[in-house]
Amino acid sequence: LRTPHKSRSKVSCQLQSSDITMRVLITGGAGFIGSHFAEALLEDHHDVFVIDDLSTGSIDNIDRLKSHPHFDYLIDGIANEPVLAEHIDRSDVVVHLAAAVGVRLIIEAPVRTIETNVHGTEVVLRHAAKKKKLVLIASTSEVYGKGNDVPFSEDDDLVMGATTKHRWAYACSKAIDEFMALAYWKEKNVPVIIARLFNTVGPRQSGRYGMVIPNFVDQALTGKPITVFGDGSQTRSFAYVGDVVQALLALLKEPSAVGQVFNIGNDREISILDLAKTVKRLTGSDSEIMKIPYEKAYEAGFEDMPRRVPDLRKIKKLLGWAPTVTLEELLAKILAHVGQEESK
Ligand code: UDP
Repeated sequence: LRTPHKSRSKVSCQLQSSDITMRVLITGGAGFIGSHFAEALLEDHHDVFVIDDLSTGSIDNIDRLKSHPHFDYLIDGIANEPVLAEHIDRSDVVVHLAAAVGVRLIIEAPVRTIETNVHGTEVVLRHAAKKKKLVLIASTSEVYGKGNDVPFSEDDDLVMGATTKHRWAYACSKAIDEFMALAYWKEKNVPVIIARLFNTVGPRQSGRYGMVIPNFVDQALTGKPITVFGDGSQTRSFAYVGDVVQALLALLKEPSAVGQVFNIGNDREISILDLAKTVKRLTGSDSEIMKIPYEKAYEAGFEDMPRRVPDLRKIKKLLGWAPTVTLEELLAKILAHVGQEESK
């Protein structure tokens, strides 16, 4: 085992007395959201230790953090329980982001999806329970399922499809994670916070797992057809990762957030067809916008969520948090990042 958290006495004495320095373990910290959260925590003077098996994360994501004196990492799966238990023991807070990501993966590898999501969370909670460590569980707006009564608020019913449609296995596996976390809070007094993240986007998000914005940006910039699945009338609300990680950080610092579920996202709703048009316009691309039936894009009988918009009143009331970056601004940030990568 490595020593995860190095002495930080020098930095601590620079902090205001009101600042609490946390030792934070991030499972899945080499992923897109995890690596942005690691950066935000370091900037806020916390110690960060990442465990990631690089199944969907990438070492490139944490490359520039490696030399930071308060950052360390281990490439391993959270199924390696003795190692995970040791690192949980050395941390004040566990941020559990390790999970199966992307609708395509869920369709192609349903066993891995369910096992990773359910078993991983169970293992994290079991070991965190020993010394009642604070656990932040990253959940997803996918748990709202196919209802279209937007905006979705935290106590709304979850509307799942049939078990023969694998897409809903992802939603159900994350819903089980939420039930499990809340059960640990209720029965064993383990402090947990659940964050339901709505379509989070930004620099470093890979298009490899089918996410729409990295795909559209890549297609527009390379002159390939921009592939709109279905008729494009389905809607999503996209949040900038920098906004999302600030909300996560504020939740960790708010004692009354414990035992609760929070939506985190941006409530500007846009149809996927309009998103395609916006990306085309902002990139000045000549790409055609091509509609592809769901059964070709995913599998026969695929069901999409028709609409997805967060009700943000709960988190706003507790933390005063609200998203700051508009869709156009976040697309501009992604394009600037792509430009930087290309000029390297
Ligand atoms: N989508 C699309 N073209 C793509 C990738 C995705 O039209 O190349 C659609 C997808 O069918 C869904 C929406 O964009 O309706 C968002 O997809 P994503 O996989 O990014 O996230 P989801 O919200 O489905 O989890």
